[in-house]
Amino acid sequence: MTTHTHQMLRHPVKFRTLQVQRVERLTPHMQRVVFVSDELDGFVSASPDDHVKLFFPNSAGEIVTPVMGDNGPEYPPGREYSPMRDYTPRRHDASRNELAIDFVLHGDGPASLWAAQAAPGQRIGAGGPRGSFLVASDFDHYVLIGDETALPAIGRWLGEMPATMRADVLVEIPDAHDRQLLPSSAQVNIVWLERNGEPADRSELLEQALRRLPTPSGDTFYWIATESRRARAMRIWLSEKRHVPKEWVKAKGYWKAAADDADDDG
Ligand SMILES: Cc1cc2nc3c(=O)[nH]c(=O)nc-3n(C[C@H](O)[C@H](O)[C@H](O)COP(=O)(O)OP(=O)(O)OC[C@H]3O[C@@H](n4cnc5c(N)ncnc54)[C@H](O)[C@@H]3O)c2cc1C
Repeated sequence: MTTHTHQMLRHPVKFRTLQVQRVERLTPHMQRVVFVSDELDGFVSASPDDHVKLFFPNSAGEIVTPVMGDNGPEYPPGREYSPMRDYTPRRHDASRNELAIDFVLHGDGPASLWAAQAAPGQRIGAGGPRGSFLVASDFDHYVLIGDETALPAIGRWLGEMPATMRADVLVEIPDAHDRQLLPSSAQVNIVWLERNGEPADRSELLEQALRRLPTPSGDTFYWIATESRRARAMRIWLSEKRHVPKEWVKAKGYWKAAADDADDDG
């Protein structure tokens, strides 16, 4: 068996203030917010599935981010912390100090609600990325699986893949209007799976499509990003039913269904 070597890059942690420059509704459930900031000097995002921590206004409308102290990140005492959520740096333009983030508008929570009303001039905080996991580029085949929260990372994966790479992509979205153009030089087959009203944590469209996917020939890397329980279940299925080595799978819960909405893990 070939050893495919992944690499972990560490970056110095920096907290920044970002200002909204423009907002673009990509699809009914996806809002692109392009931020600008001189503080983006030195920003590095080396991997398509990197994430930044974004800090949204607290109940007083203030952005309270940590600062780097001697013992790591420290919050200023006596102030209400900003709610913090993870997001993918969708596009970074170093020449303009711009950073684009694509927010799923799922209708609840500080990040999604902030993104829905975002307007030029508003500010939020950002930290990281503190590291980049570089997946080995010498697999014969890649399978990318995700719901709409994974679309920014999948868009980056596909945009950055060279023509020699082959990928199957399974993407689950709310409905057909949420399809996006995902340009790529690679040899890509994209399957769009539309929930059409089924809740994102209860759907099984990705699981069914994964089971139907013919086992690709050659060494295959699987990347999965969905609701936590579903990501875990697909990782376990690949291990138990397809005997995929654990180093050939990266499965991450990108969000967690509310406890009373979800089935027990299993
Ligand atoms: C590494 C990483 C990268 C990510 N990149 C992106 C990205 O680029 N774009 C993006 O939109 N998201 C991304 N996410 C997912 C995002 O961080 C979560 O969806 C987050 O919970 C959103 O925060 P919120 O404040 O909107 O909702 P929360 O306050 O976290 O949750 C409020 C309620 O909404 C539910 N909920 C949360 N997210 C969803 C959802 N997507 N669909 C349906 N219900 C939901 C929760 O179960 C809860 O009931 C990423 C996550 C990770 C771990």
